[in-house]
Parts: sequence; C-alpha cells; structure tokens
Amino acid sequence: MKYKVSVDREKCIACGACQVVCPDVFDINEDGTAKCLVNETDDDCVKEAADSCPVMAINIEETGE
Ligand code: SF4
Repeated sequence: MKYKVSVDREKCIACGACQVVCPDVFDINEDGTAKCLVNETDDDCVKEAADSCPVMAINIEETGE
C-alpha cells in the first residue's frame, strides 16, 4: 500500500514518537516538531506512527497498492 503523509506542525507537540517508530519517513526540526522526509511512501510504519501520535498530527491517505 502507498500512502501520502503529512504532519500538521500546528498540532505537533514535539514528542518525537513518530521519528522513533518510523525514522525513514519522519525527522525532527530544530524546534522539536516533526517533518516528513518524503511526501509519499509505501512503508506501513506510517500507520503505526499516526496511531502513536498523541495529538493526531499525522495525516495519512492511502493512494493505492
Ligand atoms: S508523534 Fe505527533 S506530536 Fe509527536 S513529534 Fe510526531 S507529529 Fe509531533
């Protein structure tokens, strides 16, 4: 499955969980908030990252097989 992925920096509380769960997709900005290294991925860890985000700041959208 492919996913479009984005982070809402307004919501992000800089906990770092997404980067721990899915380091190939998420990185941390200087202010501690998360950013996406890619806009699209087929790495299923983005679902786990979205589930582990305490403020639901990670948006994922399935775009195909
Ligand atoms: S898990 Fe959510 S709140 Fe934590 S750094 Fe990632 S996007 Fe921000």
